[in-house]
Amino acid sequence: MASVSLYRKWRSQTFAELVGQEHVVQTLRNAIVEERVAHAYLFTGPRGVGKTSVARLLAKAVNCLDADRAARPCGACAMCQEIAEGRAVDVIEMDAASNTSVEDARALISGVMTRPTRGRYRVYIIDEAHMLSTAAFNALLKTLEEPPEHAIFVLATTEVHKVPATILSRCQRFTFTRHGIASTAAHLRRVAASEGLTLEPGAAEAIARAATGSLRDALGVLEQLASFTSGHISMAQVQSLLGMTSAAEVAALIEALLEGDAAAALRAVNGVADQGADLRQFTRDLVERLRSLLLLLAAGDHALADIGDDEREMMAAWAQRAETGRLLHWVKLFSALDYQLRTTPYGQLPLELAVVEALVGQPAQPAAPARRPEAPGAPLSQVAAPVRRAAPPAQAAAPPPATPRAASPIPRGEAAPPIIAAAPQANPEPAPPTEAAPTGPDPGPDLPVPSLAPSPAAPVARSPEAAAAANADFSLLELVEAHWEEIKRDVRPRSPTVQALLHSARPIDVEGNTVVLLAASPFHKENLEKAQNRRIVEEVMQRRLGVAVALRCTIEARAESRDLRSQIREARKDDLVRAAMNIFEAHIVDIEPPE
Ligand SMILES: [Zn+2]
Repeated sequence: MASVSLYRKWRSQTFAELVGQEHVVQTLRNAIVEERVAHAYLFTGPRGVGKTSVARLLAKAVNCLDADRAARPCGACAMCQEIAEGRAVDVIEMDAASNTSVEDARALISGVMTRPTRGRYRVYIIDEAHMLSTAAFNALLKTLEEPPEHAIFVLATTEVHKVPATILSRCQRFTFTRHGIASTAAHLRRVAASEGLTLEPGAAEAIARAATGSLRDALGVLEQLASFTSGHISMAQVQSLLGMTSAAEVAALIEALLEGDAAAALRAVNGVADQGADLRQFTRDLVERLRSLLLLLAAGDHALADIGDDEREMMAAWAQRAETGRLLHWVKLFSALDYQLRTTPYGQLPLELAVVEALVGQPAQPAAPARRPEAPGAPLSQVAAPVRRAAPPAQAAAPPPATPRAASPIPRGEAAPPIIAAAPQANPEPAPPTEAAPTGPDPGPDLPVPSLAPSPAAPVARSPEAAAAANADFSLLELVEAHWEEIKRDVRPRSPTVQALLHSARPIDVEGNTVVLLAASPFHKENLEKAQNRRIVEEVMQRRLGVAVALRCTIEARAESRDLRSQIREARKDDLVRAAMNIFEAHIVDIEPPE
């Protein structure tokens, strides 16, 4: 791999040259100055962050001929040079990934008792130590238990949890951290300058970002770029090599999200898709940037947020407008898309849905009705029919046929039917009928409970009352469906028989506050409707949903009618319709046949 050479060439020869890992370096330097070097070290951390580089520096430092211990390794003396060139017989390196057996381990440590040939210490560096077999670890353990004075073991691993505890307990352990974007970029610029390369502004940061904390990977990318450019490396070249989307497009999407501008956000996504760019990479870049913003906001710490110099200002400006709860939601939402984007046959659709959902999930400004009035120009904005049926008292007194009111466990309001609460976590007490909105807390991304916020009624064609009623009923039906498994489970402790009956039933409709179950047979219907059984189900549903409901059974599936009610029911199942309803806090008032 061509990329190794630049990394090798720029491998630090002294502690001072080393990039990052200051905490490790300081401790090791002190140990060398005070001659308290341990016999076994364990270096853990991700790949490419300098574990073996530090191991070699340590090997040099303990053997360096410089009289000043604080200056070791000097990088210049005969010992330092031998080790740097890989000629030193007293520094033994083994890659455990390809030498896992007990024989390999025995061969490695066979000469451990004999004194070093030239230096003061014989240093054993075992890379990918977690790959050793159990037998190999056991062979090594014997040596670690009683190491000779002149031996030092350095075990490096990316997967410390695979190293046996018996080994861990004998090692002094150092954790290596990922390189930050700013420090990686700075190192890239230094290397580039020395190699006679120029980097367009932002290019070093872009490479650093793609390398996700590995200096080795970052230098590998720089080397590849150097090989096909004439010395000047542009952003476009970096992006094309790395399959990155331009930072400007990610920025445009974040900008739109912060503004709550769905149209601009969807335009950004489509712009990226139209260029044929890799949407997964785009989404990863987006998540990475949102994550930085989240960390910046949550911790107020540029170092933790790992922000490159190129975007400090922009991030600071975003942080002014961002809000932690929303960012958290967005990061979760977009980071879950990777698999979907890989498998979907629908191109950018998952990303578009996520964008819409991101804006739907705007945490509640509590007084929803105040900001409601209209969303001008929005597709569904003409509607806004009330969700709860504002039934006049007379009408409310007429209950659904087969449901005696007495069966309900909840005292009901005199005039109006009980409030249908928006979310299951809502207070089970019925709200006063005059209260405007059951705008409960936003259900959040994991709980797609339909919003039942009422809206001022607007005069519309084709029986708005019927449409509003259907919307309210189906909101409740969707709520019941979403919790159906839990409802059945909750019933079991009360009555296994009723649970068994429910297993052959399913919710198919809601009329007002009555949930209609489709039962498997007249036997099931009859038994479920027995007063004591029905009460169990009603009580469980009320507790689960936070809504007082009555139960009715039927054994006939409703015929597929194309009336408005069933059309609304079908339309509500459509993801995009649901998203639109949520965004505009609207409800379906009419469905027009396709032209
Ligand atoms: Zn030296």
